[in-house]
Amino acid sequence: MVVVLLAVFSLIVAVNAEYVSSNLKSQKATQVMNTQTDFYANITFNVYEGEVYKAFRMEPKNKEEEDQYLRAFLSGLKKLFQKKNNWGFLQPLLLSMEHCAKCQTCSGSCPVFEASGRKEIYRPNFRSEVLRRIYRKYIKPYGKLSAKLTGDIDLNWTTIARLAELAYRCTLCRRCASVCPIGVDNGLITHEIRKLFSQELGIAPKEIHDKGTVQQLKVGSSTGMNSMAVKDSVEFIEEEMTELAGFKVEIPWDKEGAEILLLHNAGEVLSWPENVGAFAIILQAAGISWTLSSESVGYDGVNYGVWYDDVQLARVALKHAEIAKKLKVKKILIGECGHAHKALTIIADRVLTGDLNIPRESAVVLLDDIIQSGKLRLDPSRNNFPVTLHDPCNLVRLMGIVEPQRRILRRIAPKFREMTPHGVDNYCCGGGSGFAIMSSYNFAEWRILVSSRKKLLQILDAFKNEPLEVPKYVCAPCSNCKGSIRDILEYYRAGERSHIHYGGLVELIVNAMDGLKQPMIKFDAG
Ligand code: SF4
Ligand code: SF4
Repeated sequence: MVVVLLAVFSLIVAVNAEYVSSNLKSQKATQVMNTQTDFYANITFNVYEGEVYKAFRMEPKNKEEEDQYLRAFLSGLKKLFQKKNNWGFLQPLLLSMEHCAKCQTCSGSCPVFEASGRKEIYRPNFRSEVLRRIYRKYIKPYGKLSAKLTGDIDLNWTTIARLAELAYRCTLCRRCASVCPIGVDNGLITHEIRKLFSQELGIAPKEIHDKGTVQQLKVGSSTGMNSMAVKDSVEFIEEEMTELAGFKVEIPWDKEGAEILLLHNAGEVLSWPENVGAFAIILQAAGISWTLSSESVGYDGVNYGVWYDDVQLARVALKHAEIAKKLKVKKILIGECGHAHKALTIIADRVLTGDLNIPRESAVVLLDDIIQSGKLRLDPSRNNFPVTLHDPCNLVRLMGIVEPQRRILRRIAPKFREMTPHGVDNYCCGGGSGFAIMSSYNFAEWRILVSSRKKLLQILDAFKNEPLEVPKYVCAPCSNCKGSIRDILEYYRAGERSHIHYGGLVELIVNAMDGLKQPMIKFDAG
């Protein structure tokens, strides 16, 4: 038995292996792609070779400080397994920690592992197994004894720093969880590691904590925009949309008693204002009573806590619900932002109780209702170009919202085609769990070279039979996914070389609306 166990565990690379000492290298690898054009056949990727440890180097000054960090780590680890301290995820965490069969079915499903060239450190079960070994040895009864049989590990600063780093090399896409025969969720384990480091050691990437949650709670938005700046930008959007539509488009603020409070990811206002404008045109044309909020945090639907810290998540979710309650709206509508869907409709369910439990709905579902109701006059021939759909992980895999966006596309985009695979099996854009907005250390490079790679291949494949010069549209109904797809298309010059463009769902809907003065989608040269 012992021999079998040892043999099984020898498949998993020991945590103290040499991987962290190797330098970050890159190597060229030509993807052999079954496509017809030179562009597709000759696209070249850099393969990311490994060193991931530097990003979280925060060396303790001396042994005493190291011990202090280790005590904090172990205390946090204990809390993850206590009901009063882990109100969000105790049950699935226990299942995931106790019942992995080491079958490695999950490995074949992980886009990061695959795109890295199947490097052991990116195997979904790798970081989970590191945490399991620490948990078994240092938290469970008779741990030191059982560690000899089930996999030993030394607890020191190097080990936990590597673990923190590894938690930021997974996009939390949970594709691995969807194939595990037992229901083990390696994405959840990653999330719990991130939480432990954030809450006990104050370690979290600055883009999601300092510039994200902290800035959102302090200034009003993770973009750094205060209420006045947002209102100014939206006024400009109103003017642009009025010009485009040929009728007065109004974007209401703080309308008490409106049916809907629409929460946009404020990144849309800055980077994709046409998305904000398209929502306004559709809701106005459908005769829906709606409003935006100008209150601090109320005009930014992002909630980065969902990626790394439940307490930070709760702070932002409570603000969103309080604002909706004050405005006396019937429901909160979440715009095209996948993680905001997860944060407010799923995870915040544990926090929003009593009169704060205001109904929350995905915009994709409402848009489907609007389209199917016939309230909009549509002319699909206006979208007479190839369209493919990117499925944000949080919408499809987490929430099961798969068909509404497809029903819409089948109605408005005659040249719509699926990616392979799609729906609940779709690949993450590579920017999940914060990577889309993380540019410090080597995060941006890692995303381009590793985590977004599968997505790029899917996009190229969806359009492989189209002539290069024909404009093509990747519909990505999520702000972070759009950012990630934008970056990878730019990096590989896909716009310029193959006329591939990206955008949201509402822009396509407005583009198909009959009677508007100008098209919403104007393809540039790329
Ligand atoms: S997480 Fe599930 S699929 Fe992966 S090795 Fe464990 S049991 Fe197998
Ligand atoms: S959650 Fe996604 S990125 Fe993370 S290990 Fe699983 S499949 Fe890989």
